[in-house]
Amino acid sequence: DAADIGVTGMAVMGSNLARNLARNGFKVAIHNRSVGKTETVMDEHGSDGEFFPSESMADFVASLQKPRAAIIMVKAGKPTDAVIDELAGLMDEGDIIVDAGNALFTDTRRREAALRERGLHFVGAGVSGGEEGALNGPSIMPGGTKESYARLGPMLEKISAHVDRAPCCTHVGADGAGHFVKMVHNGIEYADMQVISEAYDLMSKALGKSAGEIGEVFAEWNKGDLESFLIEITAEVLHHTDARTGEPFVDVILDQAAQKGTGAWTVQTALDLGVPVTGIAEATFARSTSGSVPQREAGRKVLPAESQTLEIADPAQFIDDLQKALYAAKLVSYSQGFDEIAAGAEEFGWDIDLGAMARIWRGGCIIRARFLDRITEAYERNATLPLLLSDEYFTTEIAKCIPAWRRIVAFAATSGYPVPVFSSTLSYYDAIRAERLPAALVQAQRDYFGAHTYQRVDAEGTFHVEWTEDRRETKQD
Ligand code: NDP
Repeated sequence: DAADIGVTGMAVMGSNLARNLARNGFKVAIHNRSVGKTETVMDEHGSDGEFFPSESMADFVASLQKPRAAIIMVKAGKPTDAVIDELAGLMDEGDIIVDAGNALFTDTRRREAALRERGLHFVGAGVSGGEEGALNGPSIMPGGTKESYARLGPMLEKISAHVDRAPCCTHVGADGAGHFVKMVHNGIEYADMQVISEAYDLMSKALGKSAGEIGEVFAEWNKGDLESFLIEITAEVLHHTDARTGEPFVDVILDQAAQKGTGAWTVQTALDLGVPVTGIAEATFARSTSGSVPQREAGRKVLPAESQTLEIADPAQFIDDLQKALYAAKLVSYSQGFDEIAAGAEEFGWDIDLGAMARIWRGGCIIRARFLDRITEAYERNATLPLLLSDEYFTTEIAKCIPAWRRIVAFAATSGYPVPVFSSTLSYYDAIRAERLPAALVQAQRDYFGAHTYQRVDAEGTFHVEWTEDRRETKQD
């Protein structure tokens, strides 16, 4: 009698994942570095299903059915490396090690290559949905070999969230593909959260609405195209009253947003790949701005606003504009995120089904939303769509939002309210649809000071102007 699968790391995420597996009828070996956590799981949740608890890693591995499959759910970074080493030393060829923590995809690629050398499968699996998701059904993004997915897939699909009876789990691609997609998921989450907050900010500052009133607006929006987990929880947060003061909860929170790094990874990777994920980048920087305490202190005191407080003649119209601007900014952020996944797939040789990524994000994860179906359909119409926004559904939808989006950004700029995601996504939109960009001038400057050459609109080849001599034009090969 042996376990179908094992989980090592019995903190919140690991214990919930193990319980989810057990509740779904799998025999689950469990282990934790310090025995106490394993005992707690057995004491409190032993009746969830069939567990095989072990005190040592050796016993844990021995309790697994071959080919063995063990999920690691420990602190990311060095602890993960340590546990991988320990496990690998005890495993045999063909066994599978899964890292379900939030690892940087380049670490996953490195670990996969090292374990492949030893005949082991290493699967980096993105798991989204926090502790609640881990227990009741997360969105799971596993990378690694097809062979390992054949063994793991049925189990992971069963414990994942389901939407319209379809699992929110699919094989993403080789080596680090799963963690890459999870990373971009988190980046999109940053953009989504920030733009929601910008809409809140304008309703609060420009319309003078209370948190509760704004909560009503979000609750209303959640019945339309914007329906999503993040809009839903925003309404709930805004309705919440602080127990200590009786004030709206959001008003007693220090206005500094923290980050654990996945947004920054998404932006750093996008910079390396040359993909403009401006919405995600601005959202990540917005958190950094909020945390720039001495700079804000200095700026608050001396920087003039010279703004003009615009009268809002029709608050209902303003709210309608905000809703449309929010939808448009969101579409751009998602489009940019999918561009990054496509670029990553190209760079690292992953065969990623972009439509399937939108499908497995419909449930379990933080960015779960109704409109993800529209993304899946867009990629079903054209699997190699060069720009998600250019799909007919999105062009039609965004057309309905553009005037409102421009009004909101213009209003915010004139009135002196920061809207980094609303405005950067609009600039991106206008750039990506432009007939001609001022990049021509940038390239000319580059040719001037660095002899970086340029290409012409009317002739093939590479050219350079001898700026320092007679401005002679030369053709370079
Ligand atoms: P933590 O990240 O807090 O990690 C605690 C666990 O790691 C404990 O089981 C601990 O064992 C173990 N551990 C730490 N160092 C070592 C080591 N050197 N050797 C062996 N074990 C070690 O746990 P979480 O459950 O919050 O998260 C687990 C993983 O899941 C992380 O990678 C996290 O990024 C990821 N994740 C978390 C989400 C969340 O919402 N929390 C969401 C999605 C992913 P011990 O008890 O012995 O100290």
